[in-house]
Amino acid sequence: MRTSDRREDVVPHHHVAGLGAGPANLSLAALGEDVVPGGVVLFERREGPAWHPGLLGSGTQLQTSWIKDLVSLADPRNRLSFLNYMVTTGRIYAFLNAQYESIPRLEYARYLAWASGRLGSVRYGSEITEVDFADGRFVLQGPEGPVATATHVVFGLGTRADVPACFAGQQIDGVVQAEQLESHLATVPSVPYEQAIVIGGGQTGAECVLNLVQRGFRDIRWIGRRQWFAPMDESPSANDFYRPTYLRFFQGLPESVRERYVAEQTLTSDGVSMTTLQVLYQANYEAFLREGRSPVMMLPGRSVVEASQRHGTIALWCERDWGGRERHSARTVVLATGRKASPLPISPRLLGLLETDSSGEPVVDADYSIRWKFSEHCRMYVQNRSRVGHGLADPNLSLLAVRSAVIVNSLLERQVFAIRDEQMNTVWA
Ligand SMILES: Cc1cc2nc3c(=O)[nH]c(=O)nc-3n(C[C@H](O)[C@H](O)[C@H](O)COP(=O)(O)OP(=O)(O)OC[C@H]3O[C@@H](n4cnc5c(N)ncnc54)[C@H](O)[C@@H]3O)c2cc1C
Repeated sequence: MRTSDRREDVVPHHHVAGLGAGPANLSLAALGEDVVPGGVVLFERREGPAWHPGLLGSGTQLQTSWIKDLVSLADPRNRLSFLNYMVTTGRIYAFLNAQYESIPRLEYARYLAWASGRLGSVRYGSEITEVDFADGRFVLQGPEGPVATATHVVFGLGTRADVPACFAGQQIDGVVQAEQLESHLATVPSVPYEQAIVIGGGQTGAECVLNLVQRGFRDIRWIGRRQWFAPMDESPSANDFYRPTYLRFFQGLPESVRERYVAEQTLTSDGVSMTTLQVLYQANYEAFLREGRSPVMMLPGRSVVEASQRHGTIALWCERDWGGRERHSARTVVLATGRKASPLPISPRLLGLLETDSSGEPVVDADYSIRWKFSEHCRMYVQNRSRVGHGLADPNLSLLAVRSAVIVNSLLERQVFAIRDEQMNTVWA
């Protein structure tokens, strides 16, 4: 008996398997449902549907239009559209009358769970610890051995928290990740004039600050590296970067230009929503009127470089852009310091067959496929991992359906979905 026959007895084989069931791979599975042989089967390490749990608090909203759901930009008639979700759950009228500019994050998380349930192809509680290649197929290994084989795999593993070097490797009581703040606060008594520090000047940092204000904290320090707590640029011209036509232009640029453009475009993706900033400034202003003191002290232009704990108090040292250091202390420190790509669980043997760039990252082509030795027969694709290669739309939800459509077209080697983006008034090249 050959090795492959033995494996076939034990684990199922899929034409296309996805690792991770976040919006990226759910979108792919939704668009591939009727066209990919056997559909796209997803392996997800979580025990059930969830999308950034812990960051779905009251007032948090999507920074992307709901029209940019899992499918609509490529296939508006797909049964897994947000509109169909709204109609079939019977909430469409209530939703419209609530007059949201952007939908609550909680609603988006529920939409993803609904789509996942309808797909029925997500294997929850299935962490893939390693992908190997043997006998002409990918072997997906879980903690207890092989769980499946596949002809093609798509990595949609998302991101994980990026912890500043001074916190890495040390356990300090009272230091929590942003997504743990809710559960942490539920376990500690609220002492309004106790100091709390939030590190990170982006949207998540701003939301943590607001959360603390709303829970009665009255001595909050908000530390950010930029020279101001910068709003997201949502102007029409900035949104031109999130169009398929621009994406194609961007992918053809030399690497050095792409690097510069990504750096310059950061605030079209990573800034704070204007509404969140306004609510925060107004909360500070009104607290001053009522209590004679503003609860939030904003400390931009500072990088936290040292952290230690003494007698239950956390001491932080910050380097200032204009020179010198300053010390801040608190009993609660929240890390909202960004996210970085999750590592690809690829076996060392398979890794050796991949083409990598100067930084050791796999080379990702315009169809999101990874360049590797046997890609003619068995392909690997990767979503949300290549900012410099594919622009800032890659880590975002904006072109989710478009990226999935490109991958489906590439997998099936024909144009299943046409991507039309005409009436472009900005001339890129
Ligand atoms: C709070 C928050 C709000 C955001 N809001 C927006 C927004 O409004 N608009 C926007 O454009 N972008 C937004 N983003 C950025 C981005 O669009 C989201 O992070 C989005 O979820 C990325 O989708 P994804 O599928 O690539 O990754 P994820 O949503 O992170 O999904 C990856 C999945 O892979 C699973 N996984 C990881 N490793 C393994 C493994 N080894 N085996 C099996 N499963 C694994 C994870 O459990 C996870 O469920 C937001 C990000 C955050 C943190």
